[in-house]
Amino acid sequence: MDMGELEHKYEVEIKTTEKKQKLPDKVKDELKASGMMDEKGKLKLKGVSPKMLKRMKLEYVECPVFKEDIQFVQCFVCPNFQSRVMGKVLCKGDTL
Ligand code: SF4
Repeated sequence: MDMGELEHKYEVEIKTTEKKQKLPDKVKDELKASGMMDEKGKLKLKGVSPKMLKRMKLEYVECPVFKEDIQFVQCFVCPNFQSRVMGKVLCKGDTL
């Protein structure tokens, strides 16, 4: 895919960590409300296999909008998320 095809402001490198990352409660509530997480806290993301999900949980971005490290699962469901291309997130960069 050509990165120029999708409108985006930032290309944010996806990094990995060995540390277990926790989703903020607010994000969990949003995921539950939109049916992407069940009551037990299990993620149900469309088109994401358990293997992919396991990998995603160890990934994060240094988010240019929130100005902090955001774990990739949260980034993936963010309204600014456009696509993931070659280890980078194409991010719309809107103020949230
Ligand atoms: S998509 Fe959202 S979480 Fe990901 S880098 Fe952009 S603003 Fe940050």
